[in-house]
Order: sequence, then C-alpha cells, then structure tokens
Amino acid sequence: MLDSVRSRLTLWYSGFFGVFLILLAALTYFLYWRTTLQRLDSNVLELSDAYLTTFNSELKDPQESNTIRAAARVAMVEHRYRDIVYVLVDDQGRVIFSSLELPAVAGDPGTLTSQIFASEEFQQLARAAGKERSGFFRKVPGGKNGFRGYARSLISGENYASIVILQSLHPQHEMMEAIRRAFYWIIPVALVLASAGGYFLARKSLAPVAIMASQARGMGAAHMSERLQIANPHDELGTLALSFNELLDRLEKSFEQQRRFVADASHELRTPVAILRGETEVTLSRPDRTPEEYRETLAILRDESQRLAHIIEDLFTLTRADAGQYPLNLRALYLDELVADVLRRTRSLAISKNVTLTSSIQPELPLQADEDLLPRMLLNLLDNAIKYTPAGGNVSVDCQREGNAYVLRVVDTGPGIPPDLQPRVFERFFHADEARSRSEGDTGGAGLGLSIALWIAEAHRGRLELTRSDASGTTFTACLPVLGKSSSD
Ligand code: ADP
Repeated sequence: MLDSVRSRLTLWYSGFFGVFLILLAALTYFLYWRTTLQRLDSNVLELSDAYLTTFNSELKDPQESNTIRAAARVAMVEHRYRDIVYVLVDDQGRVIFSSLELPAVAGDPGTLTSQIFASEEFQQLARAAGKERSGFFRKVPGGKNGFRGYARSLISGENYASIVILQSLHPQHEMMEAIRRAFYWIIPVALVLASAGGYFLARKSLAPVAIMASQARGMGAAHMSERLQIANPHDELGTLALSFNELLDRLEKSFEQQRRFVADASHELRTPVAILRGETEVTLSRPDRTPEEYRETLAILRDESQRLAHIIEDLFTLTRADAGQYPLNLRALYLDELVADVLRRTRSLAISKNVTLTSSIQPELPLQADEDLLPRMLLNLLDNAIKYTPAGGNVSVDCQREGNAYVLRVVDTGPGIPPDLQPRVFERFFHADEARSRSEGDTGGAGLGLSIALWIAEAHRGRLELTRSDASGTTFTACLPVLGKSSSD
C-alpha cells in the first residue's frame, strides 16, 4: 500500500497535520490558561483594593467598634463572594480570622480550613504578608483544584495585620478540562477529515500520471507517432507530458534517421556487391577464359572492393561520429602545409581527368587540428570538384586568413548542382544525379563525402558551406577558427 505515491503523500500530510494540530492545541491551551490566570490576578487585585478601602473606612468610622478584627469582618461580609476566602493574619503570619468563620458560604469550612491553612504554601504566603511583602501571589492547595492566593498588608505599625485573599481555581480548572475534552475529539476528527481530503486530492492530482503511464506503456517502436494527451499544458503534469511528447518527437526523428540510414547504407552496399557477384558469375560461366579476360575481371573486382571498403569506412566514421566516439586528436600544425600535401595527393587524379589544378595558399597558417580528419575534409571537397568537373576544366584551392578565421575555398568549373537540390548536398547518401553516381565503373562514393566533410568542419568548431553553384561551377567554403592565437596575432 505504501508503494503508491498517493498513500505516501497522504501519510506524510496527515503526519505533519497531526503534529501541527497537537502543537496548535497545546499552544492555545497554554495561552488560554495564562490569560485566565492573569485575569484572575487582576480581579484579585481589584478586590483587594476594594477590600482595603472598606476596611480603612470601617476602621476610621467613629460609630463602629473599630477594632481591626471588626473592620476586617465587615469588609469580608461586604466583599463576600462564592469562590473567595479572606484570611486576616498577624505579623507572624498567624491566622487571626478568616471568612470561613463567617456564616457558611459553600463547602465544609472545617475541612477546608484545616486543608488550606495547614499547607506549606499558605504558610509561606502568610509569612510573606507578615514581612510586609505585599502584592505576593502564590498557588495554594486546598479544595478540589486549589486556590490562587494573594497577600497584602492592611495596617502597619504596632497592630500590624495583613489580608490573604484566596480565589478558588475550580471554575477555571473546569473550563480548562472542558477545553481539553473538546480537543480530544476535535483533533482526531480534524485529522481523519484532513487525511480523507488529502487522499482524495492526491488521487485526483495523480490520476493523469496513471493515465500517462498506461498510454506510454502502449507505445512502442512500432507506434512512435502516438503522443500523450495533454489536459492542461500549463500545469506541472501538462509540462511533464509536453516534455515527454517532445522527447518522443526527438526519438521518432532519430529512429527515422536511423532507419533511413540503414536502408540507404544497405542500398549503397548492394550495388558494388551485385557488381562483384555479377562479374564473378559471368567470368566463371565459361571455363575457357583468356588471361586478359581474367585480368579485366580482377581489375573490376579490385575497383569495386575498393569502393566497398571506402563506403564501409565512411559509414563507420559517421556512426562513430554520431555516437560521439570519434575523439579529435588535436595537434599544432600548419594549414598551408596540410593543404599543399592534399593537393600533391590529388594532382594525379586531376591529370588523369585532364583537369587543371591551381592553388593560392597564404604561408604560415598555424592551427590546432586533427591531422587525419582535416586532410580528409579537403580531400572529399577536392575529390568531388575534380570528379564533377569535365575534362579541360579548372579546379582551384584558395586558402588564407580572414580576420579570426582561416578560409578555405574549393572552386571548380563543373556543371554545378541544380538550385532545388543545393540545400540537400550535405544530407547523407545524397546524389544530385542518381544515374551518374551509380553508373558502372563510376568512382563516386555513397553520397557520404560531404556529410563527413561537414562533420569534420563542425568538429573543429568551424563551418562548411556551399557558397556558389551554377552553370559556371561550384564553390565550397570552409571556415576554421584560428585557435591558440598568440599575442602577436
Ligand atoms: P559522393 O561521395 O557521392 O561524391 P558527396 O557527399 O561527396 O557524395 O556529394 C554528394 C553529391 O553532391 C554528389 O553525388 C554530387 O551530386 C553533388 N556534388 C558534390 N560536390 C559537387 C561538385 N563540386 N560539383 C557538382 N556536384 C557536386
């Protein structure tokens, strides 16, 4: 049961609420008791003032017998209340006279008298009054719930006397008892109601999660286009569902790319394999082949297997790059030297195709780059330029520093790429001319060369763009940031 979030939420909530209620009840109880006591004390004070006034006027009245005892008695009678006991004490704290000796008020005066006056607390109070420590409050046991006692001197000098006023705490205790009893049922009832409400709320709030979970469970690779329904896109759960749907969008796109990649890759691999098989079968179909015929077949097999190896290597590079498993091995080198080296390697291809290869390279271009990858980028661009430029055409390479970047341009005088296809040149397996690039004996790759070149440029924090392509030719431009600049740069 505790496995469900709503039960745990309810438990936590009820626990906290319970503790809060108990603390609140205890605080309320304590504050109420304190205020009651304060009110009681101020009542007793007022009473003592009134008592003193009566006592003094009685003592001074010439018509009365005006002894202290008589005056105290008259004042007691005048200010006689059900829950109040007056006690007249002498300077030693001995009881001279108490209101309990007056005609009965309540209770049994005999037991009360012995209970109250015998207590240590009363003795302290009486003695304190005797030492003229007026305004002294203290709790005195007696009766059912005890008394609040207050001592005050009445008369000083030789006939010293003080009055102790005892106010019964019984009504207050009864009221506090009633409050306590109310708390005993209010707290559990409030807790049960709050827990039920909390459980209901948690259930209601988490219901969409359960629906989302069951929807998500029904999805699979085969049903990638399905999406979670979003009741309210602005609340937390709506945001969660939205993020989940966005994740599904990305996953679907990546699944689709992967599917297309695998389909295109197998398609590209099928052509050279079919040629290999066809050539071998044709050659083997007749036993009486001349050595020249075998040689010719073997040359075709060599070329096709070379092409196959090339495609496989490109595929491997791209999959590793996609998986982020192609670490760049950056080294300090000179771009001008690197370009010159690639030009040397492609010169024979240009000559064989009767294409003029020219270059303009600014010297001293230091750069941090991967020694294997960067030449590969340039090689792919140059290879394409020479490949697609007809005999008699011209391919030029231009390399120089412009501001904070090295700019490398490969310009050819080939037929260009149709404008509608230009935005797709960097797509994987893209061929502007399907027939041309797949014809037998064609040296064209699988349409991965530019994708790899773009990845290499971006891996070096640079860019690769098709900056011009029309009937007069094509220009690819790579920009590489000048890294590790010295202050003299
Ligand atoms: P491939 O390995 O087939 O050359 P690329 O990715 O290098 O693949 O090029 C993709 C396509 O872009 C090529 O098939 C070609 O149609 C077109 N292309 C690339 N470079 C040039 C260029 N310099 N001139 C004309 N077309 C080009």
